[in-house]
Amino acid sequence: MNGCDEVYDFIVVGSGAGSMCAGLVMRNAGKRVLIIEKTGLIGGTTCKSGGVMWIPNNPFMQRGGVPDSPEQALAYLESVTGASENAPGATRERRLTYIEESPRMIDFLLQNGLKLERPKYWPDYYDDRPGGSKAGRTVVAQLFDANELGAWKDKLRPGFNPYAATLEETLRLKTYKQSWAGKKLVMKVGLRTVLSRLLGKKILSCGAALQGRMLHAALKAGVEFSLDTPVQELLLEDGAVKGVLAQKDGKPWRAGARLGVLVNAGGFARNAEMRAQYQPGTNVAWSNAAEGDTGEMIREMMRIGAALGQMEEMVGYQTTMAPGVENDYVKPPGQSLTAAPHAILVDQSGVRYMNEGGSYMAYCKGMLERNKTVPAVPSWAILDSQFMRNYMLGNTMPGSKKPQSWYDTGYLRKADTIEELAALLNIAPATLKATVERFNGFVAKNDDADFKRGARAYDNWLGDPYHKPSATLGIIAEAPFYAVPIVPGDVGTYGGAVTDAHGRVLREDGSAIPGLYATGVSTASVMGRFYPGAGCSIGPAMTWGYLSARHAAGINS
Ligand SMILES: Cc1cc2nc3c(=O)[nH]c(=O)nc-3n(C[C@H](O)[C@H](O)[C@H](O)COP(=O)(O)OP(=O)(O)OC[C@H]3O[C@@H](n4cnc5c(N)ncnc54)[C@H](O)[C@@H]3O)c2cc1C
Repeated sequence: MNGCDEVYDFIVVGSGAGSMCAGLVMRNAGKRVLIIEKTGLIGGTTCKSGGVMWIPNNPFMQRGGVPDSPEQALAYLESVTGASENAPGATRERRLTYIEESPRMIDFLLQNGLKLERPKYWPDYYDDRPGGSKAGRTVVAQLFDANELGAWKDKLRPGFNPYAATLEETLRLKTYKQSWAGKKLVMKVGLRTVLSRLLGKKILSCGAALQGRMLHAALKAGVEFSLDTPVQELLLEDGAVKGVLAQKDGKPWRAGARLGVLVNAGGFARNAEMRAQYQPGTNVAWSNAAEGDTGEMIREMMRIGAALGQMEEMVGYQTTMAPGVENDYVKPPGQSLTAAPHAILVDQSGVRYMNEGGSYMAYCKGMLERNKTVPAVPSWAILDSQFMRNYMLGNTMPGSKKPQSWYDTGYLRKADTIEELAALLNIAPATLKATVERFNGFVAKNDDADFKRGARAYDNWLGDPYHKPSATLGIIAEAPFYAVPIVPGDVGTYGGAVTDAHGRVLREDGSAIPGLYATGVSTASVMGRFYPGAGCSIGPAMTWGYLSARHAAGINS
């Protein structure tokens, strides 16, 4: 720590999901802690997110009598993530730690005044597997008035949700055409949004509410922040990480950290070079990660000896790039699009090749895998007029007139018959017709014999709960017919430094680099090469923020 401009007990690089959780642990232990953020805004991609944490057997489930247990959670993770090959972040030891410690992390946040809650129904993404939960294991933050942050409110990265609505409510708004409950919800959310604005409130939801609440608690506890301060190097003393070198006010700034450094600096979704190296075929332009997600801290950890794992993995999030959305804060979601009734996904030869209701990570993996043998990036969503009348397409409302530019640029294609639509897509008409007829046959039997779409609670959750008998299967029969391209976008990468159960960064030989911890998508995920449920990025990020700080502070370790 020689020659440092300032010395702290603990330093966190990046204001990601685990950063303020670590900060709170340190402050509770009476330690001085600094969070260093390279951009001018706190909160990272976590702020832009749904803010959902996947926490098995969480306190809200326990209190609400929703069945779960560590054994069930383990059975589930073994059956889903256990299939990951060559995934050093997803060891059994880390899996067990996650199951045991993530509910404790939530308890810790509740004790520190965080207002959290459990959405009532959010099925695991493989709910049909052993230990899968249909009710779901998610935890989110309650709505938050940014005014509570005082002068800091403008330092929080904005969220994606303009409404004073929880994510659960926001997702149900899409049913307003199908039900009175949906219409009532629109009124309720509309009124709440208008009223709160009239009262001068700035209501945040989703990831911004989570990070807003975390920031509020962290400031109250005395966590310190340094913004616009990119960290460039980890400083070593006798082989241990003892601080960082950053750029502050345009000058080199050395900060010492007696107990160590936690890297919570996100992944490399915005680094075109790293993506080309590790994830060929993916595209920075389709990513929804925040602009700071450029991977330099992963490279820096590697420079000082960290082993990397699962670098090929991203949390894919299918999207449809309508003209003009390139700079949208969040790209139009494609998740519910092809899982809605009267919609399927086909490759460029006109063949259906997956369960369109799968997890977004599996969906995008499926596209990239298919593309190795048949062109499938982009694939085509094939839709009929029932779809167009009832469901959102991109960010447009059901039944709304679509912009002329969509037709002019060839983004949205329209034809009176499936064969004519196929011709517009350069697909053999007989192939697309056969695909649609086969699918319609499955719909008639309410059994997707090819891919079992609709067999899981999750597939149906993505669809239309008012569509009977299946929420996700509906025939493609009413002309005119439509097609839009779907690409494998993402919400971030999922590989990075290999860490142990305490969050310590490991070398290739399995030894820990003294003083260096990492969490979030700077690390190789504990979930391996799968996404078991909503919140499998932020849940682990928070948990290893909590555990790393506890280990560094010498609490229970
Ligand atoms: C629209 C959307 C919805 C999503 N919904 C969910 C969800 O509900 N649940 C879920 O689990 N996941 C969700 N995700 C994915 C999830 O948000 C991210 O994977 C997760 O938030 C990453 O968190 P993190 O803590 O690892 O990093 P981040 O939250 O991205 O924070 C990293 C921070 O480090 C900073 N940084 C980077 N390099 C440096 C440096 N050199 N020096 C200093 N600071 C640096 C960055 O600027 C950034 O602020 C969603 C993502 C999007 C885009």
